[in-house]
Amino acid sequence: MQDVKICDTTLRDGEQTAGVVFANEEKLRIAKLLDKVGVDQIEAGVPVMGGDERESIEKIVDAELGASIMGWNRAVVSDVKASLDCGVDAVAVSVSTSDIHIDKKLNESREWVLNHMTQATEYAKSKGLYVSVNAEDSTRSDFEFLVEFAQRAKEAGADRLRYCDTVGIMTPLETHEAIKNLKKEVNIAIEMHTHNDFGLAAANALTGAKGGAKYIGTTVNGLGERAGNAPLEEIVMALKHLEDLDLGFNTSDFLELSEYVARASAQDLPVSKAIVGSNTFAHESGIHADGVLKDSETYEAFKPQEVGAERQLVIGKHSGKKAILAKFEKEYGIELTDEEAEVLLPKVRKMAVELKRALFDKELVSLYEELELERTEKTEEVV
Ligand code: MN
Repeated sequence: MQDVKICDTTLRDGEQTAGVVFANEEKLRIAKLLDKVGVDQIEAGVPVMGGDERESIEKIVDAELGASIMGWNRAVVSDVKASLDCGVDAVAVSVSTSDIHIDKKLNESREWVLNHMTQATEYAKSKGLYVSVNAEDSTRSDFEFLVEFAQRAKEAGADRLRYCDTVGIMTPLETHEAIKNLKKEVNIAIEMHTHNDFGLAAANALTGAKGGAKYIGTTVNGLGERAGNAPLEEIVMALKHLEDLDLGFNTSDFLELSEYVARASAQDLPVSKAIVGSNTFAHESGIHADGVLKDSETYEAFKPQEVGAERQLVIGKHSGKKAILAKFEKEYGIELTDEEAEVLLPKVRKMAVELKRALFDKELVSLYEELELERTEKTEEVV
């Protein structure tokens, strides 16, 4: 796993998410942010759709980004012509290779699939384009046929094969085996395109790369058809920290990118979303908060700054005295005594249980002010 490259398809598969539409300006901004974080290739859309889709792809091409810009095509020469007209430097040429797709969706034969793929690929190569041949539904395809398809793609000049787990049915170990076996049969670069129907998209993409795939297809926040694709931020951070493979990404822009895509797609980031969710660096329970205050490595796999996030001490039902002391000192500039924190703690817990949530800053400060007021009144009574 030396030179893994990322092909991000937020603007194509990501926009195919049910209910998601990006405005052209948003597509351009997302492409610029993707380029800034460091993706190698951006699948920008489907040129043959024409209209706004075509216009946005042209704008992205005109932005002269560092990343390669890819257009998505059916295995049809007229689709590839539409991509050429947009000025992209790379094309995906996509056709199904599983019998269920060939029989039921296309109502065609394996021979038809091979012929169409070959024609479209040879045409694209004759125009100097980089070509990824996509074997849609690779994972449910007959292995012998998939090998033949990959071989024919290579002979037609394809630069790589996109191995698609279109319905997201693979497991990590199976994926590793499948890619290793395919690599043994055909010497062509492979891209992992994995779907998340069983929550394994990122795991399958990573094991595919371990099996010899050179490209990983991703989307920001894991957007994409149904349960989505492998999330860009999870893949890059897992490669960096778990596989010791630093792709040189500007990871501190991840939160900005994720939040922007969440807004543009109107798909809220789940609080527990790996890498960029708001709970990823939030600590409430007394033992965890105390540990993190002493050394963040006790309960964090990496520092929040690395992805542009901040650590948060959440004060609620599970908080302990140390967290309260730290919260008041660091965030409100109030140095509580141990005794004050001990008096506050049961009040905090009671309020959190009543509200069924953690406390806002305002609520915490007002609990403290009430405490001060009670004290003053007691003092006055004595006087
Ligand atoms: Mn897909």
